[in-house]
Amino acid sequence: MRNEVQTTCPYCGVGCGIIASLDESGNVTVKGDPDHPANFGRLCSKGAALADTLGSDGRLLSPEIEGTPHNWDNALDYVADQFRSIIDEHGPQAVGFYVSGQLLTEDYYVANKLMKGFIGSANIDTNSRLCMSSAVAGYKRAFGSDTVPCAYEDLERAKLVILAGSNTAWCHPVLYQRLAKAKKENPDLMVVVIDPRRTPTCELADLHLPLAPGTDHTLFNGLLVHLYDTEESNPLFIENHTEGLHAALAMARETAASVSRVAESCGLLRDTVNRFYKLFARTERVVTVFSQGINQWSYGTDKISSIINCHLLTGRIGRPGMGPFSFTGQPNAMGGREVGGLANQLAAHMNINDAADRDRVKRFWRAKNMVQAEGLKAVDMFRGIAEGKIKALWIMATNPAVSLPDNRMVREALAKCEFVVVSDCMRKTDTTAFAHVLLPAQTWGEREGTVTNSERRLSRQRAFIPAPGQARADWWIICEIAKRLGFAEAFSYQEPVDIFNEHAALSGFENEGQRDFDISALANLSDHEYQNFQPRQWPVTVEQPGGTPRMFSTGRFFTDSGRARFIAVAASAPANLPDEHYPLRLNSGRVRDHWHTLTRTGRSARLSAHIFEPFVELYTADAKDNGISEGELLRVHSRWGEAIVRARLSDDQPAGSVFMPMHWNDQFASQAGVNALVNPVTDPVSGQPEFKHTPVQIENYEANWYGFILSRRRLEMSQLDYWACSKGTNLWRYEIAGKGTPEDWAGCARRLLCQAAEKVEWIEYLDKSQSRYRAARIEDGRLESCIFIGPETGLPDREWLSKLFLDQRLDDNERNSLLTGRPVNAEQDGGRIVCACFSVGAKTLEKSIREQNLETVEAVGEALRAGTNCGSCIPEIKGIIFSVSKT
Ligand code: SF4
Repeated sequence: MRNEVQTTCPYCGVGCGIIASLDESGNVTVKGDPDHPANFGRLCSKGAALADTLGSDGRLLSPEIEGTPHNWDNALDYVADQFRSIIDEHGPQAVGFYVSGQLLTEDYYVANKLMKGFIGSANIDTNSRLCMSSAVAGYKRAFGSDTVPCAYEDLERAKLVILAGSNTAWCHPVLYQRLAKAKKENPDLMVVVIDPRRTPTCELADLHLPLAPGTDHTLFNGLLVHLYDTEESNPLFIENHTEGLHAALAMARETAASVSRVAESCGLLRDTVNRFYKLFARTERVVTVFSQGINQWSYGTDKISSIINCHLLTGRIGRPGMGPFSFTGQPNAMGGREVGGLANQLAAHMNINDAADRDRVKRFWRAKNMVQAEGLKAVDMFRGIAEGKIKALWIMATNPAVSLPDNRMVREALAKCEFVVVSDCMRKTDTTAFAHVLLPAQTWGEREGTVTNSERRLSRQRAFIPAPGQARADWWIICEIAKRLGFAEAFSYQEPVDIFNEHAALSGFENEGQRDFDISALANLSDHEYQNFQPRQWPVTVEQPGGTPRMFSTGRFFTDSGRARFIAVAASAPANLPDEHYPLRLNSGRVRDHWHTLTRTGRSARLSAHIFEPFVELYTADAKDNGISEGELLRVHSRWGEAIVRARLSDDQPAGSVFMPMHWNDQFASQAGVNALVNPVTDPVSGQPEFKHTPVQIENYEANWYGFILSRRRLEMSQLDYWACSKGTNLWRYEIAGKGTPEDWAGCARRLLCQAAEKVEWIEYLDKSQSRYRAARIEDGRLESCIFIGPETGLPDREWLSKLFLDQRLDDNERNSLLTGRPVNAEQDGGRIVCACFSVGAKTLEKSIREQNLETVEAVGEALRAGTNCGSCIPEIKGIIFSVSKT
């Protein structure tokens, strides 16, 4: 192991370079890699806190069969036997792999090769289906290939950046920082945000279009018509490089023939639409960024086509500072696309429905059982399991029991499935609960391989710490199963570089410039070259060994005609519309400091401080109309399930809509998974679920008591009606509530906070008349845990109480403060954490901004350091400055 390695962040598709250092005591520190072209040294709060998420706590350390540890040979033999007997009896369509954008390209490549070339089924799909499959479908329809045309530097070279359905500030924070810097250096750079919500990204916007949910395609159809009618199109480009314009225009006119009609359909002011259209029309260098807010609809592919159409009409593609640019959610969603990780793809961007491509891959792999047709996409795969069509499922590096829509169906399917294998780095997730076999996988910092970010840039992930227990690389696990299934010759790789070289060779095999994905110049890397691989953007060919920043600069596309296709985009609406029973529209997405299902970021106190409890955000007036106040517990339910979460009121939410984060699950809350509610409707072209729109109803939860617990150790909470836990420094924090009120609070507190027969000191306070109870458990003068209960949500602030867990010994004043529920010194209460890097709370910020008259983010940074490290909190600091200035 080297002391300092260059690697990449395991979270979002920005793909930031990281330098990880290991000191002699085994402590890890991380910092941004100044030489990595994705981030040039910047990191967001999640990347900066990566070191907090390491360690063997909670890791899966050995293979297990039915909950019993086994050695690798036993477990692998058992998995291979089960798969073989199911394939022998029911055929290859009876098995499936559900994989992940968290896998490295080498892992992904062998998983896809095994399923599509040797088992003979395409029932391999990936959780990237959930985040960007509509982008893949949109690009393929227009360009004949899944090609992201742009590079990150285009954000800096553009004159207009449109962020459509993208809360970039929270979901791709380093690109937001790059854009913010570019705007600061070039005030002429205009930023437009298209989003029903007013998100932190809007802090950068010159114009925000808070359009009605799901109407983006109408807005862009209208733009197409407007550009054409005002003669802002590029006739030369259209004539020489495109086809299908008139059908697309005619269709667009049906729903978006005039600015007035668009404004009405989209719920926007006519002037706002006009301003946007004029801005687009008069600006040559336009980048349109789109992300999950566009992709995650039952007509997400159409929305993307409506955006691409406008770039084709104006010829704004293939040149610096312009193009339709998909930001991917996961670190290696793009790598998965390269190897054909989706059920409707073949390796190296070849077409699974093309017999010549199938034959090409078959010959290259010397495949024994080459797939003949598409397999089942994610949601259909789980339906297939529920229907008994798929009898054996191998889940790799993902948590579908949380992340797929209609969770109840997914969990019932997993419970019914004859044989479920889960390879994961964590022992306890909502999905591992359904596994017959668990296989311990390596994770970030332990494994070697490559990833590709949103701008097609390949980078290395490198190991810098040893894997704990018996954890092994995913590619090794897959190859061992392949060997046991009788395919040893095709899976006898020694190192990841062997797999990478084969993947690169396949990309160039009989390519002759016919396929966009070509990294054939990398097909013969030595160990040394692979180890020292420097980031570059594909294609990487003999002619372009340093990579290719921008695609389509010649105007040639990968369709049969070589022309880009305009796609006619018809009117569409969400599959399930609000009605009298479910009148609100549920939207779901990320929060700033958490990632996916919390298995990694949930281990970090720093990252858990910003938002520590699952919530539903409602428009303030809607909440008031329904008698809902801030901080109340609410029951949110849809036709598919329900959740109990805390109410947050905001004017940034559109009327009639609510938002819930996607992260919480049964390991961190009693019942807060948003995907229990989300409808399992998918886009017919891409198979991507409609995560952004489910009709729901909201009711007060009506708990009889509310409370919280702070505890140095993790506690068992299953007996409580409501709980949500988060990591703090030296503690776990539990928000709790219940319907039935215990007669004996003291006994109840002891059962919750103590292990059996512990001798501890208790200090406690009970006011029965007011239903208030407070207690603290102290060992050797040190606070071990405390509990606060009251009849309503207004309980003492947790921030100053948490600080008592930093002490080794409580003094008398602190003991008193535990009983009174008030800090010894009001200065101690900094409020909810806004800046995770320097633990600066909202109350501290408000107070300093007011008292010191701080008017800019820079002034706040100078006074408090807040916002001066990763910068992820800058939009919120700006919001606080603004709200203080109004009071
Ligand atoms: S923006 Fe943040 S989460 Fe995304 S890759 Fe960079 S450091 Fe990681």
